[in-house]
Amino acid sequence: MAAYDYETHEYDVVVVGAGGAGLRATLGMAEQGLRTACVTKVFPTRSHTVAAQGGIAASLSNMGPDHWQWHMYDTVKGSDWLGDTDAMEYLAREAPKAVYELEHYGVPFSRTEEGKIYQRPFGGHTTEFGEGPPVQRTCAAADRTGHAILHTLYGQSLKNNAEFYIEYFAIDLIMGEDGECQGVLAWKLDDGTLHLFSAKMVVLATGGYGRAYFSATSAHTCTGDGGGMVARAGLPLQDMEFVQFHPTGIYGAGCLITEGARGEGGYLTNSEGERFMERYAPTYKDLASRDVVSRCMTMEIREGRGVGDDNDHIHLHLNHLPPETLAERLPGISESARIFAGVDLTKEPIPVLPTVHYNMGGIPTNYWGEVLAPTKDKPDNVAPGLMAVGEAGCASVHGANRLGSNSLIDLVVFGRAAAIRAAEVVDPLTAVPTPNKRSIEAALSRFDGLRHASGQVGTAELRLEMQKTMQADAAVFRTDKTLAEGVKKMEGVAGKMSDLAVTDRSLIWNSDLMETLELANLMPNAVATIVAAEARKESRGAHAHEDYPDRDDENWRKHSLIWFEGNEASLGFRGVHLNPLTSHNDGGIDPKKIAPKARVY
Ligand SMILES: Cc1cc2nc3c(=O)[nH]c(=O)nc-3n(C[C@H](O)[C@H](O)[C@H](O)COP(=O)(O)OP(=O)(O)OC[C@H]3O[C@@H](n4cnc5c(N)ncnc54)[C@H](O)[C@@H]3O)c2cc1C
Repeated sequence: MAAYDYETHEYDVVVVGAGGAGLRATLGMAEQGLRTACVTKVFPTRSHTVAAQGGIAASLSNMGPDHWQWHMYDTVKGSDWLGDTDAMEYLAREAPKAVYELEHYGVPFSRTEEGKIYQRPFGGHTTEFGEGPPVQRTCAAADRTGHAILHTLYGQSLKNNAEFYIEYFAIDLIMGEDGECQGVLAWKLDDGTLHLFSAKMVVLATGGYGRAYFSATSAHTCTGDGGGMVARAGLPLQDMEFVQFHPTGIYGAGCLITEGARGEGGYLTNSEGERFMERYAPTYKDLASRDVVSRCMTMEIREGRGVGDDNDHIHLHLNHLPPETLAERLPGISESARIFAGVDLTKEPIPVLPTVHYNMGGIPTNYWGEVLAPTKDKPDNVAPGLMAVGEAGCASVHGANRLGSNSLIDLVVFGRAAAIRAAEVVDPLTAVPTPNKRSIEAALSRFDGLRHASGQVGTAELRLEMQKTMQADAAVFRTDKTLAEGVKKMEGVAGKMSDLAVTDRSLIWNSDLMETLELANLMPNAVATIVAAEARKESRGAHAHEDYPDRDDENWRKHSLIWFEGNEASLGFRGVHLNPLTSHNDGGIDPKKIAPKARVY
C-alpha cells in the first residue's frame, strides 16, 4: 500500500452531511457551544434537500382545525403500523416548535392573508383520526421549501461559528476496540489530502440511497454513504425493504412533480380519461397515501389503461387550475414540466410514472438520533459516539411508508433532538479520544485498494447493472420469484466489486475514484434492500408482495435488520416500539386510536 499522510482535526462533534438534517444538527450543536465541524462532499446548499418542493408537515392549525394527535395518527397509519410509536409521538409533538424555530431563523414561508405560515393539503394527512376531511398541514415556501430551509440553516450555522469542510468525502468511520465511534476519515477532493476528524460524537446525515435504482427523483449524490460506512463498521441497517415510489416522477426524466400539485387540486387520469383514484380510494382519491397511489397507477398500466404510444404511463392534470394559482403556488414545477416533459401545464397534462423517491429504511436510531447496536438481549443498545439523522437514519417514524412532507419535518425535529442529546452526553471539557490506529489503517487500506483497483469491470458499468437489477426485481410489485432471482443476481453484482477497474490513480478531482467509493456504499444498501424484501412474507406499506397480499401483524410487525461481513448479508429482527411516550391520562394519545386496523383511504 502507498504511504498516506493525514492531517488531524479535533472537535467535540463532527457532522457528516450538510442537507437539512446535517445543518439542523450542526446549528443545534454549535448553538450550545460544542465545537462542531460539518464535513460535506457537496456545497451545503447543493444537498438534495434543496430539491424538496412541497413542504414540511406540522399541526399549526393555520388553515383550519388540526391537532398533533391527528398528525401522529396519520403517521402511524401511513407507516402501516411499523413505525416506533414513541418516535412518532415525538415527531408530531415537536413539529410545530421545530417549524416556528425555522420561521424565527428566517425561512421565507408563503403566507396566508393574515400573515400566518401558509399550509397545503398533502396525501395521507387528515383530520379527526382519519374520519374527517383532508387537513392543510404542510407548511410551504411556494414549491421551493427545501431550498428556503437549506439556505437559512446554512447562514445560521455560519453565524454560530460552526466550521465547514466543504467538498471533503468521508471514507470510513474510525471505530474503537469497544465498538465506540471515534471519528471519521475524509478525502479532500480538490487537493487530494486526507483528513482525520477525531471527535466525541459523529453524526451521520448523509441522506438516502435512491441511486441504487435506475429511475429515481433523488440527486446523483444520494448514494447511501452513511449506510455503507455503518455496514462496514459491523452495525446493522434497518427496514431496508421499504423503498418509496413517488407517484409523479416525470415520465422518462424521473424528476419530481410534487404531491403539492395534487394538494392544490391536480388529479390523475388513465387512457380512458377516467379519474381512476376515485375508484380505488373513494374518500381521499388522488390524496391517498403515496404507496397506494403508486400501486393504483401501476395496476392501471398493467391492465392496459396507460397513456402514450406504449400505454406505459399516466396523465397528471393541472390544466383546469387558474394560471395565477400555478404561477404563485407551483412556479418550480411549471418550469420542470416545460423543460423535462415539454409540456405547458396550463394547457396539457403532464406524463408521469411512479419513481423511486425515498428510503424509509436506514441506520437504526432511537428518537434522540443515537445509533443502535442491537444485541439479542438488548435490542435498543446504543453504539457510543455515533448518531444518524435525516434520510440516512431510521428512527423509525416512517415505518413501511412515509407520508409526504413528513421527511423535512423529520430532518429538523431529529436534527434538533440530536443536538439536545449531544449537549447531555458530550462533555466539552474532556479530551478527544485517541483514535484507534488499526481502524485508521483499515480505512486507508480500503481506500488505497479501490484507488488501485485493476480488474475488468468499470464502475459505471457495474453501477448500471446494480440499478437495472434493483429496478426490475425490487420494484413497486414484488413476488417470491422476482425477489429470489433478484437476491441471486445482486449477489453476483456485489461479487464483481472485487473485479473493479479504476483508471485514474491521482488524488485530485478524481471523479472515477469518488464514484467507486460511492458504488461501494450503494452496494450494501442495495443488497440489504433486496435481501430484506425477500425475507418479508407479507405486504405492508411500500412492500407490496403479490404472493402475500395481506399485512401479517402477528408474524411481521417487526423491524428487519441486516448485518454485513464482507459481501455476506445476515438477517435479524427488532421489535417495534408499541408504547407512546406519554400515557393517555397525561394527555397522550388514546392507544385505541392507533391500534392496528386495515389501511384504507
Ligand atoms: C426531488 C425531491 C423532493 C422532495 N420533496 C420533499 C418535500 O416536499 N417534503 C418532504 O418532507 N420531503 C421531500 N423529499 C424528501 C426529503 O427532501 C429528503 O428525504 C431529505 O431532504 C433528505 O435530507 P438529508 O439531510 O437527510 O440528506 P441530503 O439533503 O440528501 O444531504 C446529504 C448530505 O450528506 C453529504 N454527504 C453524503 N455522503 C457524504 C460523504 N461520503 N462525505 C461527506 N458528505 C457526504 C452531502 O454532501 C449532503 O450534504 C423530497 C426528496 C426529493 C428527492
